[in-house]
This record gives sequence, structure tokens and C-alpha cells, in this order.
Amino acid sequence: MVLIGVAPGWDEQAGKLTVHRDYTDAVLRAGALPVLLPLTDGESVLRSMLDRVDGVLFTGGGDVSPARYGEAALPCCGEICPARDDFEFALLAQALAMDRPILAVCRGLQVLNTALGGTLYQDIGKQMPGALIHPRNDQPRDGVHAVTVEKDSLLGKAVAAARLEVNSRHHQGIRTLGAGLRPTTRAADGLIEAVEMPAKRFVLAVQWHPESMSGRYPEQQAIFNAFTEACGG
Ligand code: MN
Repeated sequence: MVLIGVAPGWDEQAGKLTVHRDYTDAVLRAGALPVLLPLTDGESVLRSMLDRVDGVLFTGGGDVSPARYGEAALPCCGEICPARDDFEFALLAQALAMDRPILAVCRGLQVLNTALGGTLYQDIGKQMPGALIHPRNDQPRDGVHAVTVEKDSLLGKAVAAARLEVNSRHHQGIRTLGAGLRPTTRAADGLIEAVEMPAKRFVLAVQWHPESMSGRYPEQQAIFNAFTEACGG
């Protein structure tokens, strides 16, 4: 059974690492074993963690600090967690250096894009004219908008569809693309909703939450299955 390291959320006030069960269920359904990673940015510990897991899953959460892409936080920016940023940016750099398979969800996509020199809309509704309403937390577990999918991509091969209905629980998104990333889906308003890194074995990031749909929508579970396969499962 392959091991998938899951990067958790960090509730600083409560002192708790957090991960929604949907993530671990989706990994289990794919036939892999999810393991919760501890928060650390110690380089040798990170390397040791990455030696033991076959892939890394970056989960959703709050906003990336705009300082990471050279901006001051605007009033429209949401809650940030510098300790989680430190952990995830260090983990991601090491995982990319070791070419570990990566699946990044929602905030995870934003971490990946920022780490590679891209920028984010601090708030899509305020900064992107003509945007759809993307923070649709009223319907967290079903599709609320469509995305087009490029056939000849990791995602396209996984879901075997040219169009997907996706949930949408984000108020931020990719403004300028990070280096080495290939956009593979767009929403109707033009927003990039998934990226891949062609130079790596398997790096796939999606702006929606496939884990919340994967129990009932096989094409969303297929994303976790393809990731697990890339991990050797
Ligand atoms: Mn969306």
C-alpha cells in the first residue's frame, strides 16, 4: 500500500492540526494509506518524511500570505497563517526537488503557484472583473460551475472528460501563473482552475475540492486514483 503524506491545516488558537475526513476517505478509496504530516520546516525532518511517503497531498485552508508574492494584505484578503505557510512552502520545495508526486487542493494550488513565482487575486470578486461567484460555500459538495479540461493532460487522462462540474469554495485564485506551470482547465470567466508541472512526474493542482465530491462522483475520485497510481499504487 502506498503512503500519502497529508499536509494538515493548523488551528493556532486551538493548538490543533486539522484535516477533513473527506481527504483521508478519498485516499483510502484510491487504495492508498493516508498519513498525517506534522508541522515542521526543519529541512532534515522534511527530507526524512519525504523519504518515507510516496506522495504528498496539500489540502485546502486559509489564504497564503500576500507577502509571499510581494504584496501587502488588502482588507479583502482572508485569514493567513504564517506558520502553515512556512511548513508548506518548505515541504513543497523539498517535494519538488525530490520529484515526489503531488496533488494540491484549493489552497494547495495557490501555494504551488505562489512558490513558483506566480501571484494571486487577493479576492476574485473585488479584483477580477466579470468573474463568476467562486465562494459558493452554500453548496460545498456538488458542482456549482463547469470547467473545461484539456484532454491531453494528467487531469484530462484521469477524468476522461472535456468538461467537469466542480464545487467552488475559494475567494482567491491565480492572477499570474508561476514558472513551469501549465493551466489545464478554465472556468467560464477565464479563471485557471487546475495546473500541472510537465517537467515533473506528477504534480497536479486543482482549485476545487474533489475530495468533497469523490464519494458520489467517480470522475472526482478518479483524480485521487490517478495520483495514487503515480505514487506507485
Ligand atoms: Mn471556482
